[in-house]
Amino acid sequence: MKRNHRHHPDLAHHHPVVQKVRGRWVWSCECGSASCRTDLSQLNWHQVVVEALRHATTIAA
Ligand SMILES: [Zn+2]
Repeated sequence: MKRNHRHHPDLAHHHPVVQKVRGRWVWSCECGSASCRTDLSQLNWHQVVVEALRHATTIAA
């Protein structure tokens, strides 16, 4: 899926990115938010995706 790269205010929608860092799945967002790095429990990919989506929907609400 390609996005238009037109620059426009998109404050209501966040686009967290899920990626694997040092063997751990984490999400991070352009707004500076990211999954908690001090969390001792390893989250699997699905959990991280859910967290990322929750961030996006929470901000948009
Ligand atoms: Zn965000």
